[in-house]
Amino acid sequence: MGSADGLPILIAGGGIGGLATAYALARKGFSVRVLEQASEFRELGAGIQLGPNIFRALGRIGLTEAMLEDAWRPPAQEMRDALTGALVTRIPLGDEFFARFREPYAVTHRADIHGVFLRACQASNLISLETDQRVDDFEDSGESVMVTLNSGERAEGSALIGCDGMWSRTREKIIGDGRPRVSGHIAYRAVLPRDQVPDDLWRPDVVLWAGPRTHFVHYPLRRGTLYNLVAVFHSDRYVEGWNAEADADELWARFTGQRPEVLRLLELIETWRMWVLCDREPIKEWSKGRVTLLGDAAHPMLQYLAQGACMATEDAVWLAEMAAAQPDDLPAAFRAYQQQRYLRTGQVQIMARVYGEFYHARGVAAELRNQMLGSRTPEQSYDGIGWLYGGM
Ligand SMILES: Cc1cc2nc3c(=O)[nH]c(=O)nc-3n(C[C@H](O)[C@H](O)[C@H](O)COP(=O)(O)OP(=O)(O)OC[C@H]3O[C@@H](n4cnc5c(N)ncnc54)[C@H](O)[C@@H]3O)c2cc1C
Repeated sequence: MGSADGLPILIAGGGIGGLATAYALARKGFSVRVLEQASEFRELGAGIQLGPNIFRALGRIGLTEAMLEDAWRPPAQEMRDALTGALVTRIPLGDEFFARFREPYAVTHRADIHGVFLRACQASNLISLETDQRVDDFEDSGESVMVTLNSGERAEGSALIGCDGMWSRTREKIIGDGRPRVSGHIAYRAVLPRDQVPDDLWRPDVVLWAGPRTHFVHYPLRRGTLYNLVAVFHSDRYVEGWNAEADADELWARFTGQRPEVLRLLELIETWRMWVLCDREPIKEWSKGRVTLLGDAAHPMLQYLAQGACMATEDAVWLAEMAAAQPDDLPAAFRAYQQQRYLRTGQVQIMARVYGEFYHARGVAAELRNQMLGSRTPEQSYDGIGWLYGGM
């Protein structure tokens, strides 16, 4: 089987979503051109949590084992109060968790998840991976899509999938709903070698310190050789992109008064990189004719459920399955794909905001959070997240 009319499917963007989609489509026999604006296929250094739902998707494209190879399997997720140090809740992620969800929970480096998809794509003779190719514009004639690249070159495909992230140009053209919503939350992130983390501060778990209008997360990465740190706080700064250099003074001002474990870990970092967190309201339709969107381009979300990459991967698997079911009618396949996805991704967009409120609660709200989560059994915690982890 090839794509409907013999032309490749074009993918704008070779991030996690773009490469997962290319690979999932190639497995179904489609030829694909991935057009990436950067000069190489690469991901920024930071950790990423992989819920059992992404493993359900990876299983359908045969990549579970490869993904687990360099990942870290934390024994538990813990929430602690950043002011008192008290344990709020501890959710085991071992056998009990596996028995419930039938898939593991892991954390990995962004470069590692991206690398798994990249190597899978490189091994396929149906995928062309092209760098320095920014998609500037496109026209859908109804029969095919003609893309204009920054070089002025034009490329024709049977369809275009916009995997071009939070600030997607593809979205601008088919939806046109303006800039993403700036949440007012900023994430500072850093990755340290294991030996730079004092033994009394190193923990095998995913630990989240919930503070007033802040939270701080840390966990090991890459088979335990690295340590990932992410500090999130409220701020009105706005810088587009995912790699701006951060202002440490602002961080100190927000975390002052928190537990010594938090402050000692924050002190270890010399240079922080920063992300200004944005999202959008969920939408129901993100396809138009032979053009569709995927991942952050379709449903950008705050990272409080740690699901953006997981959702992009689920999208990729569903899109490929829908395209394979009707390869001669890609516009219909795209409509079926968005129909399959919009409620699930919309729920994650909305619930991620709710979790953010929970993490950053102050005063009575924080007390209530601690009381509510603290009284849960592991089984009740699994029930609470079952809608997300149990699906795909
Ligand atoms: C602080 C933070 C922590 C997170 N933690 C998690 C987590 O734990 N678990 C999780 O699942 N998710 C997490 N996420 C979310 C996740 O990182 C994103 O949702 C995911 O990377 C989106 O992938 P994507 O491929 O859709 O977009 P991107 O990763 O943004 O990739 C887009 C690609 O398109 C390219 N591009 C853009 N425009 C063009 C163009 N015009 N032409 C060609 N190429 C173009 C870009 O160069 C880039 O390579 C986190 C996000 C943040 C901010």
